Amino acid sequence: MGRMLYLKDVTTLELDEQKCTGCGMCLNVCPHNVFKMDGKAAMIVDRDACMECGACSKNCPAGALQVQSGVGCASAVINGMLGRNGGECCCGPQTDGAGSVKNGPSCCC
Ligand code: SF4
Ligand code: SF4
Repeated sequence: MGRMLYLKDVTTLELDEQKCTGCGMCLNVCPHNVFKMDGKAAMIVDRDACMECGACSKNCPAGALQVQSGVGCASAVINGMLGRNGGECCCGPQTDGAGSVKNGPSCCC
C-alpha cells in the first residue's frame, strides 16, 4: 500500500527530544510509521502521515509526545458512522444528507 497522508502541515503532533528515553514504544504503536529511532531517541520522519489517533502520546512513558487527538481523521470516521457533524474526512466513510453511511468505514487508520 502507498504512503497515506492525512493533511499537509496540520497535525498537532509534538515530540520533546529532551524527554525521550528511546524506549521505542511510539514506533511500535504508530500505525503510520511516523517515527524512527535516531540513535537513542525517537524522531519524527513523516509528520504529514499522522492522523492524530493519540496512540503514541498515550503510550509514551516519558511524556515526550503531545498530540491533540479526537480532532483528526479517526475522530471524523467515528463521527461519520454516528451521523454527527464533522463526520467527513479525507478517507471516509461517506455519508448522505441524513447522516447515513453510504460506504463502509474505509480509512487509512
Ligand atoms: S515512546 Fe516516548 S520515550 Fe519512547 S521512544 Fe517514543 S518518544 Fe521516546
Ligand atoms: S498520533 Fe497516531 S498516527 Fe500520529 S504519530 Fe501518534 S501514533 Fe502515529
